[in-house]
Amino acid sequence: KAGSLAETKNMKAYIIGGIVRDLILGSPSEDIDIVIEGDGISFAEAFANDINGTVTPHETFGTATVETENGSKLDFTTSRTEYYEKPAALPTVVRSNIKEDLFRRDFTMNAMAASLEPDSFGELIDYFNGLEDIKKKNLRVLHNLSFVEDPTRILRGIRFEARFSFRMDEETEAFLRHSAASIFALSHTRVITELKHIFQETNPAESLSRLHELGVLNKFLPGSIWSTKTSAVLSLLLKEWEQQETRPSIKEEWFFITACLYTENAETAKLLEAIAATKPQKKTARDFAVLMNDVTDDVFASEGALHEFAFHLDEDALFLVFLALLCSGEQSKARIVHAYRTKRKKLPRWVSGDDLKAAGLTPGPAFKDYLFQLEKAFLNGEITNRKEALAYIKS
Ligand code: ATP
Repeated sequence: KAGSLAETKNMKAYIIGGIVRDLILGSPSEDIDIVIEGDGISFAEAFANDINGTVTPHETFGTATVETENGSKLDFTTSRTEYYEKPAALPTVVRSNIKEDLFRRDFTMNAMAASLEPDSFGELIDYFNGLEDIKKKNLRVLHNLSFVEDPTRILRGIRFEARFSFRMDEETEAFLRHSAASIFALSHTRVITELKHIFQETNPAESLSRLHELGVLNKFLPGSIWSTKTSAVLSLLLKEWEQQETRPSIKEEWFFITACLYTENAETAKLLEAIAATKPQKKTARDFAVLMNDVTDDVFASEGALHEFAFHLDEDALFLVFLALLCSGEQSKARIVHAYRTKRKKLPRWVSGDDLKAAGLTPGPAFKDYLFQLEKAFLNGEITNRKEALAYIKS
């Protein structure tokens, strides 16, 4: 329908980018991007009107989303070209034709379009040999400055490599290695956004490993450490994560997992705070620092000893500590943290203030201390029921 409408308006309409790639590969695709040689927003409005859909224009981006009656979404844009005033900055955008629109894209496999017009429906527009690259499982940039202009393409690239079992060709890999210096100019937010995408894929460990192999992991996450051990633990954690029923309240597992990359580093907490996006994540990072940097080994000797230091720390920080210990091979400490996390969620209330009074103790602030001692005794397995708890306070 979009194609027929375009014809009546004397405009050209194409599906473009990821959807074309996915159709060729037979992979499922979430987004349907349609590009119009003409005004994308006014076209989307007319199209929505035609099909009884609703349209949401995004004026600042020159795009519009149309939702059909059955809930599918189509994104419309005006074909445009982009140029970069300086590397790694956001580009300046101007209107253009389909060829220029395709040329601004990241990889040849994402730089194809297919016509929607009735006369040429389905005709592939492939100026950069994307189809051939897909057949060869080749990931290839369109020009030598692609990664310099936008280093997030490196993260996108290794994500696509892993997802489709593609490989960068030699030249693309050489361009990538030469562009490493421009990564530092990327904003923190852009790196985090791309990293999150990596953690949404099935095998993030493979992608991180590849970034390391290409010598750029450290450029995206300064101070991070990668080793075969980190890689193995990360894969294991991700598998376990899938099976965990009670995951920490912060759902962004990439944040926790990234912690693994920092565990051998004294600056871990600072680095983690730097990659934290939200206030609760920052608190988690600080709480994590308390346990990782400010305590001695004997804090991890028993669950009771840990309680002394960790009772006020948040659940997510404890989970991080657990991961960090696992990653650095400190199995016994990790076991204590794991047991403590589980038990502290259901600390029993066997003894009340009245019980303490009945035991002859004077009411006051010290009561809190008694109850705290009881919690520690419970965590250490010294008391297992109310009777033992009462005997404990009497002693
Ligand atoms: P996914 O399946 O992960 O969503 P996608 O290719 O559809 O993959 P989008 O981020 O939705 O990814 O991007 C849509 C299209 O926009 C891409 O196929 C590509 O042509 C282009 N694109 C996206 N990001 C960039 C970028 N950083 N540089 C150049 N082109 C890009």
